[in-house]
Amino acid sequence: MSETIVTRFAPSPTGFMHIGNLRTALYSYLLSKSKGGRFILRIEDTDQGRLVEGAADVIYKTLEMTGIDYDEGPGVGGEHGPYIQSERLPIYKEYAEKLVQSGHAYYCFCTQERLESLKNDIGIGGYDGHCRDLPQEEIERNLAEGKPYVIRQKMPLTGTTSYVDEVYGEVAIDNSELRDQIMIKADGFPTYNFCHVVDDHLMGVTHVVRGNEYLTSTPKYCLLYDAFGWERPHYVHLPLLMGRDADGNVSKLSKRHGAVSFQDLVADGYLPEAIVNYIALLGWAPKDTQEFFTMDELKAAFSMDGLSKSPAVFDYEKLRWFNAEYIKNMPEDAYNAKALPILNELCPDYINTEKLAELLHTRISAFCDIKEQVGFVTERLPMEGDLYTNKKNKTTPELCKAILDDCLPLLEAAPAWDNDTLFGILKQYAADTERKAGAVMWAVRIAIARQAVTPGGATELMEVFGREETLARMRFAAEELN
Ligand code: GLU
Repeated sequence: MSETIVTRFAPSPTGFMHIGNLRTALYSYLLSKSKGGRFILRIEDTDQGRLVEGAADVIYKTLEMTGIDYDEGPGVGGEHGPYIQSERLPIYKEYAEKLVQSGHAYYCFCTQERLESLKNDIGIGGYDGHCRDLPQEEIERNLAEGKPYVIRQKMPLTGTTSYVDEVYGEVAIDNSELRDQIMIKADGFPTYNFCHVVDDHLMGVTHVVRGNEYLTSTPKYCLLYDAFGWERPHYVHLPLLMGRDADGNVSKLSKRHGAVSFQDLVADGYLPEAIVNYIALLGWAPKDTQEFFTMDELKAAFSMDGLSKSPAVFDYEKLRWFNAEYIKNMPEDAYNAKALPILNELCPDYINTEKLAELLHTRISAFCDIKEQVGFVTERLPMEGDLYTNKKNKTTPELCKAILDDCLPLLEAAPAWDNDTLFGILKQYAADTERKAGAVMWAVRIAIARQAVTPGGATELMEVFGREETLARMRFAAEELN
């Protein structure tokens, strides 16, 4: 029987979910789910200086909204818990001590001043190995005196360490370049470099999926696995997500390219399903040309050989296109649940927002477009240029004026105010006066909307505006045309 694939997502709670991180979560999830495996969520909060209140909730909420469900994790439980690193401190201590015992790690009592004095020689974060081989009695004396200490990994001084990344291939590093990194800090908290290895092993993670910023530090992690005598996991490092700069070049996706967090994209009116669908394709290619995927379809189609090591460029236009398609396919109820609150907030009471929502359904790419689209509804726009003259409908301002004057009393007498009734009245008027129906509709639509392109035709907009506002706008336009 082949091994069960176990993957994890191990975010640090920073308070927002960068879209690159979400992609990591998604790929990690899909890798295990495509093979019927297990997926774990682990919160990496050992950097106490960077803790942000409520930040873990952002992670839970994002995963919930995107449908990335975990088999084990905070709230869900599981046999490998706790799943929040700050609740696992004794475990890290115990495992660090094991490496001290076996000679793969050591206590370091160097003071801050001493380390500072090294910086020029060794580079920031460097260490000269001063405490690597302290005599045992000195160590014991220091411990007995309660001297503060850290525990460092004892790197081999010669040779190379390498591993084969599933995406990038072989990565090798000369051991002489490796510094004796800290595993347990003076405050008793572990470093990421150490505790994620312990956790990945204890939680049975078989495939580590994460951003490629860890590609070259992974040999150090491999040495930890070797020191413990544990089997190394497979590594799947993902290329960076890039954004397109104003000058056409690309750089790491950041705020200057646009919204970069899942929450901000959602706040702009992008649908979680569309975001997931789009980012699924940012670094992974399906075997065929399919573009639209539900989560279940992604689970079925995902495979590691579709991963690319070239950096993927986040294209906001493409996301808008996906989002527009997802909005079009939304059932009316779900669409209204999102569109109506926005419209009700923007529009005066007399506006028929349900009708307006219907007209906009196929015309927006994101819910944030609504505001811009309904500017002509929420205010009476200044007339820009001669919109009454239209070649196709053979209209002129004079003709439009005549049409408005004629139609006003007919509409004032309308027995009902719905699209069919209004359409009937205007159609009949056109027939009676031998005018083109298109010309009549044009005159009325321009008079009430005061812009050339509108969602919906004249009578649909009349229904949106309601009787009073429509007639008021028509009277105003007729006056203006005098
Ligand atoms: N906490 C790390 C991060 O958010 C996780 C890296 C990893 O997946 O190992 O970057």
